[in-house]
Amino acid sequence: MRLFSRDKPKIKVRTSKKDGFSGWLKCTECHDLIHVNELSQNFNCCPKCDHHYRLSVLERLNVLVDEGSFEELFGDISPVDSLKFKDSKLYEERLAEAKRKSERNEAVCVGTCKIEGQRVALGIMDFKFMGGSMGSVVGERLTLLIEYSLHTRLPLVIVTASGGARMQESIFSLMQMAKTSAALAKLHEKKIPYISILTNPTSGGVTASFASLGDIIIAEPGALICFAGPRVIEQTIGEKLPEGAQKSEFLLQHGMIDCIVRRHELKKKLSQLLQYITGNERGHKEEKDSSAPHQIRQREPSLRPMAMRYTFSSTRE
Ligand SMILES: [Zn+2]
Repeated sequence: MRLFSRDKPKIKVRTSKKDGFSGWLKCTECHDLIHVNELSQNFNCCPKCDHHYRLSVLERLNVLVDEGSFEELFGDISPVDSLKFKDSKLYEERLAEAKRKSERNEAVCVGTCKIEGQRVALGIMDFKFMGGSMGSVVGERLTLLIEYSLHTRLPLVIVTASGGARMQESIFSLMQMAKTSAALAKLHEKKIPYISILTNPTSGGVTASFASLGDIIIAEPGALICFAGPRVIEQTIGEKLPEGAQKSEFLLQHGMIDCIVRRHELKKKLSQLLQYITGNERGHKEEKDSSAPHQIRQREPSLRPMAMRYTFSSTRE
C-alpha cells in the first residue's frame, strides 16, 4: 500500500560536484545527451552527430601539434585602449574581463611548432577572448608571424575563429585587414606556403582578409564562414537565405574553400599537405618532452627586438 500513498520516498540524484553539474550535456545540434568526458575524448565533437564544438588554444594545440613542440612568439604584445573607447562599458573593462574569462591576454596565440615532425609557423585564434575579434594586437602578432615565416621560410598555418574586426578599436582594427593581407602578399611572392584553417565561426574582417588568402583553405565541417552574418543579410535584402548558406559545405560547393576536414583527421591531412607543397620528406620527430605536455613556452632569442617595434603611434616600416 505504501506505493500508492502520497508520502513515498523521493528519488534523490547524487552528484559528486558541489554545483550539482552531473557531467551530462544536451547537444545543441542533435539534442542527444552527451557526457563531457565523452566529448573531450572525441576532440570536442559530438559522438552522436559529429557537431564540431569550439576549441580553446590549448585544446587546439593538443589536436594539431606534436606534443611539447609549441613555442609562443610575440606573446608580450598587449592591447592598449588608445581611443579611450566606451560603449555600454569601458573597453578597458571589457579587456580585463576577457583576460579573466579566457585566461589569455589576446584573441590570438602565435608561435612555432612541429606537425608530425614538420616545423611550421602557427597562429591560433581564440573565440573566447572577445569573440576572437581582430584588434591591433591580433593583427600585429599575425603580421609579425607572417614576417617571421618570411625570414625563416617556414610554412605558415593559421587557425581562425573570429567574429570579425574589434569595433572598440575602430580604424585601428580595420587597418589590420590591409596590414595582414600586405604581409601575406610578400609571403606569396617568396613562394612560401600558407594554409588557412577556418573553424566555426569565421566572419567579418577576418574572412575578408587573411582567412581567405590561404594557398590552401581548409574548413571544419558545419562551420559558419561569412562576411556579414545571416541575420544581417536577411534584414538588409529582406529575403531568407537558402538552407545551409554560409556553412562550409555550401562554400565548398561554390568554390570558396578547397576542402572540409574533420577534426580527427586534421593533423594527418595538414602534415600530408605540408609535405606535398614543401616537397619535404617527413622530418625526424624530436624526442617527446613528457614533462611538459603543451605548456606554452616563450621563445626568448633574437626575435624580441622585432616585437619591440610595436607601438600604437608608430607607423610600420
Ligand atoms: Zn550531437
